[in-house]
Amino acid sequence: MALSTALESFAEEVGGIDAGAVCVRGGATRWAVGGAPRADTREVRAPRGIVSYEPAEMTVQVGAGTSIAELHDELAAHRQVTVLEGPAGATVGGALAVGRNGLRRLRHGPMRDVLLEARYVSAEGRLIKAGGPTVKNVTGFDLCRLHVGALGTLGLLGQATLRTRPLPETMAWFGGAADHRVVLGSLYRPAAVLWDGLTTWVLLEGYGVDVEAEGLLCGRLGLGPSDGPPELPAHRWTTSPADAARFPTDHGDAGPFIAELGVGIVHASQPQPAQPPATGRHELQQRLRHEFDPTSRLNPGRDPLGRE
Ligand SMILES: Cc1cc2nc3c(=O)[nH]c(=O)nc-3n(C[C@H](O)[C@H](O)[C@H](O)COP(=O)(O)OP(=O)(O)OC[C@H]3O[C@@H](n4cnc5c(N)ncnc54)[C@H](O)[C@@H]3O)c2cc1C
Repeated sequence: MALSTALESFAEEVGGIDAGAVCVRGGATRWAVGGAPRADTREVRAPRGIVSYEPAEMTVQVGAGTSIAELHDELAAHRQVTVLEGPAGATVGGALAVGRNGLRRLRHGPMRDVLLEARYVSAEGRLIKAGGPTVKNVTGFDLCRLHVGALGTLGLLGQATLRTRPLPETMAWFGGAADHRVVLGSLYRPAAVLWDGLTTWVLLEGYGVDVEAEGLLCGRLGLGPSDGPPELPAHRWTTSPADAARFPTDHGDAGPFIAELGVGIVHASQPQPAQPPATGRHELQQRLRHEFDPTSRLNPGRDPLGRE
């Protein structure tokens, strides 16, 4: 089925206000994020498949139900990739709706920047286009990126235009007992700098010759080739980049941890103690949700702010 027809069928399946509570099921690899859907919620599937791919423009238009693996297989033919990652079965729409950044944020920026244009079904059952299909689109508000991390509470994503980037020619991990702050300040655009209080790990990626030069610098800083960090602890803490570099000062007992330096995320063995809500954040989110979905039919029961 052509994807425009598939989008229309998707909108029909979602239905209008009278069609009751609804949410999209992707690969269900992060189904519990933000809580369980209300018991009466109907599940629908977003369209699958690649609509168009412009390697020279570094953009790809894809059905939100397409798996990230299938998308990346297609892009690999032109040595390109996107920042989306996820376990087997994870979909493009699910990754956008969950909005979780991977370890390479230090180099590639926040994952919301991957989304250039979204076609979504609104609470009224209408197909809406937000954003623009080009990388240099600068007009209007960045409404499409509101959907990143919203868990499908503002609209159900049917199709997305994504920014691609070159597949790195080389990737290499380094690790050792070097001063983590010196490492972070010395390297040019590392993909990740991680620290567990004793050991610092660095992920370098890019052209072979650049990675080799930065690798030599790593050697001078006391880091050697490594397999990368051990498995990340289960709980994700949000701190400031400054706090992450002196973790766990002021944070009580976090247990073993791995901090993403320069970013501020810390993966810790203990859950993060409840934080005082950032002023106005919850109210703003509630107002947005009410504006987009006055009858609360989109993924009811789930709270985009109620998660680690
Ligand atoms: C760089 C990076 C690295 C990551 N690494 C990992 C990793 O190593 N391991 C891991 O487990 N996760 C990882 N994640 C998170 C992972 O990408 C997402 O959690 C996953 O892709 C969710 O996809 P899914 O199809 O399984 O979503 P689901 O679990 O099916 O759905 C999750 C939520 O999104 C909603 N949703 C799904 N599709 C849509 C849609 N089309 N429109 C609106 N709402 C929708 C669902 O209703 C549900 O609330 C990573 C993310 C990034 C960005």
